[in-house]
Amino acid sequence: MDGEGGPVRTTCPYCGVGCGLAVSPRDRLLKASGDAAHPANLGRLCSKGAALGSTVGLDGRLLHPSIGRRRASWKEAAGLVGQRFRETIDRHGPDAVGFYVSGQLLTEDYYAANKLMKGFIGSGNIDTNSRLCMASAVVAHKLAFGADLVPGCYEDLEIADLVVFSGHNAAWTHPVLYRRMEAAKACGQQHVVIDPRRTDTAEMADLHLALHPQTDVRLWNGLLADLIRRGAIDRGFINDHVNGLNEVEQALAQDDQSIASVAVDCGLKIADLERFYALFARTPRTVSLFSMGANQSAQGVAKGLAIINAHLATGRIGKPGACPFSITGQPNAMGGRETGGMATTLAAHMDFDEAARRRVKRFWGAPTIAATPGLKAVDMFEAAADGRIKALWIMATNPAVSLPDAHRVRQALKACPFVVVSDVMADTDTLAFADVALPALAWGEKDGTVTNSERRISRQRALFEAPGEARADWRIIADVAQAMGFADGFNWRSPAQIFREWARLTAYENDGRTLNLAGLTGMTPQSYDALEPVQWPVTAAGGTPRLFTDGRFETADGRGRMNPVRPRGPAREVCEVYPLALNTGRVRDHWHTLTRTGLAPELCRNEPEPFVELHPDDAAASGVCDGQLTRVQTRSGEAVVVARLTDRQTPGCAFMPMHWTSAYAASGRVNPLVAAAVDPRSGQPEFKHTPARVRPYRDTWRGFYIGRRPELSMSGDLIWRRITQDGCHLHEFAGRGDVREREALRRRLVEGAGRDVLRLEDASAGSLREAYLNEGRLDRVFFATTGGRLPPREWLTQLFEKPCLDDLDRLNLLIGRAPGQPHSNSPVVCACRGVRADKIVAAARAGARDVDTVADATAAGSACGSCRPQIARILKETLVMANQDAA
Ligand code: SF4
Repeated sequence: MDGEGGPVRTTCPYCGVGCGLAVSPRDRLLKASGDAAHPANLGRLCSKGAALGSTVGLDGRLLHPSIGRRRASWKEAAGLVGQRFRETIDRHGPDAVGFYVSGQLLTEDYYAANKLMKGFIGSGNIDTNSRLCMASAVVAHKLAFGADLVPGCYEDLEIADLVVFSGHNAAWTHPVLYRRMEAAKACGQQHVVIDPRRTDTAEMADLHLALHPQTDVRLWNGLLADLIRRGAIDRGFINDHVNGLNEVEQALAQDDQSIASVAVDCGLKIADLERFYALFARTPRTVSLFSMGANQSAQGVAKGLAIINAHLATGRIGKPGACPFSITGQPNAMGGRETGGMATTLAAHMDFDEAARRRVKRFWGAPTIAATPGLKAVDMFEAAADGRIKALWIMATNPAVSLPDAHRVRQALKACPFVVVSDVMADTDTLAFADVALPALAWGEKDGTVTNSERRISRQRALFEAPGEARADWRIIADVAQAMGFADGFNWRSPAQIFREWARLTAYENDGRTLNLAGLTGMTPQSYDALEPVQWPVTAAGGTPRLFTDGRFETADGRGRMNPVRPRGPAREVCEVYPLALNTGRVRDHWHTLTRTGLAPELCRNEPEPFVELHPDDAAASGVCDGQLTRVQTRSGEAVVVARLTDRQTPGCAFMPMHWTSAYAASGRVNPLVAAAVDPRSGQPEFKHTPARVRPYRDTWRGFYIGRRPELSMSGDLIWRRITQDGCHLHEFAGRGDVREREALRRRLVEGAGRDVLRLEDASAGSLREAYLNEGRLDRVFFATTGGRLPPREWLTQLFEKPCLDDLDRLNLLIGRAPGQPHSNSPVVCACRGVRADKIVAAARAGARDVDTVADATAAGSACGSCRPQIARILKETLVMANQDAA
């Protein structure tokens, strides 16, 4: 556990790539390196994985159970949860309770939660936050393949001749996979990106199709029609292995499928579309990646099906370098889909038919079994709001931030009579609503398995002792199950025992289910401990990299199914009042709701604060300027964030990142703006398209505060955001009140500070600067102004790392910058090496012509490589400008 015997091999807790790590932990310190032996990453890591060492401290952790705000024993807390759930079920039936769980859970945790809800409580009301990321792909897989099966493997991404990224900014969201494809691209692989935004992935691609939002089905249907016209479909493969072509052709015939017509509807150049269609037609080894841009839509299932149709029609599936490939967002989204963490699946890829229900009930020795699918995520919170759900248990997720129409979610949490939250951190937005808070183990403390996007099961291993009274999620679930009187089904003593039971369920009476871990059912604790990464299905001979290699699918007749899909508009169209299509997504260095990456200063440098990205024409039309605080309004709510103007945004579109929460920037939360429109089949919300408008935010004063402790909220109507730095926390704020507002805030922030104060006030200019020291060490800084300029923050934040300020520091403290030292406001591009954009521009001007030369000159991009696409973009822009200047 402490790494005495050499590095511990474990798995990254962030994205669905599922990179292996080799870490040597000691005393809550660790340096994470990529595990060269792990097939997902072969030793590589992205900036998030490399910074894991900054996130394993105990600051802000939830370490003890509590009831209300009162600390409680585990016995009391678990007993109360069991009692309230039992009473609710007795009085109102099993469907009056719900579990909302997470792709952060390990497979063993998921298995335990699903078993309790579906087999012992007897309701289908367990759903996972993977509903927000992957549910559309799951439904598409089931309709086309007969089960939720990802056909390909990462090796396919390297050996493909063409990779199509459909709504997938892999360079940011799955950086290590992108590194692998970047290397293949250098050897001739072609990249086509289908995305309204010119993302870094699009910037690097051979062809970028910046289509109108939500026109993907039209584009993919047009491709299939074009393939049929060219005679480029594989009729032999279809005859032998696929149903549904006739129905699909009939559906295609209902729209004008000429390239000219498709191009107009998608807002693309005819030549670009022709180029894509011709490239696809002549490239048998094609992988089509699809991710959130496809899935997070009211027509997400149709998008997935349209992509799969093109692959089934061309026989590009089950072959090396050829498949449709849904990439998951979370580290164990797949584990949830497998075990039954989704309300729409019973367990182990079995649904709610009579035979499956009887089989699972028998296997579990359960007193009952859920009769029907339960409530999907958005519906579950709606049911909590209107009183149908009366007891809700939220595990390892933060729905008060992450669900659409987040105001409504908060109302639901307030309305629900009994809310239980098990989490790692003490200050999530959701925990504020908890009647009972249960401390769970974090990454590095818990022990179990996860499944990545290519069906590869890997071990997450414990590195540290459990802190405080935190417990494994599976154990918390078992404690509550026992308090409800279900002792027999939940008396596991280790995750190995649960995994063995789970593996046995997949193999139980299995006469054709692809999800089968038969080769792992005999695992001992030792073999579980030593488990090497393996792709399911797992037989006695080992894992399975690629599915459908024999052309057989998991449908009743063994044939794949093409499904007719018709294009339609988004759930809510833009209009005169809300003329922009607001898209939401991730930034490169942050993860979900910042509970972990927000702790790592190096991950807060590239994108330190929430923003809205706008095309300059849209900004000008609304009077918004670059770098200015801006109101983003939709029918559901308003956010205030910094405007960033760029022609990488298509006119008529806007983008906001999803990460910021009440703990980091209350006014920067995007999900209160997103309408709760969902795909009718998958229940996945349309995060990628909400009609919106922007307006300038007119502040009367601005300022910043730097302190050693984070301030978790600011008073009144202030617009603020908090940014973690080395040794301190920077808080930026702006207000619309008068000097009394500023004074109220200042007094609160400096309360209890020492008496060694440096102060500079110019009342007529509305400027105030204060610095507080404690035995020569800088303790707090407060700067505010009504209309003047504020100094850069970098030097001041660096002073917090000094044990004692010298005379020169004190002299310059209220100026806010060191004399003679040039300062750069340029954004940090390389988080690992702290290299700013201006250095890269200088290297380009000095003759650097590619990313490697920039790395030699500046060190940018020389570590994890996540910033390489951004460096390439800066290079390109600099060279274009240089050429223009020369002309
Ligand atoms: Fe972790 Fe990065 Fe690998 Fe994703 S790509 S698993 S975030 S190291």
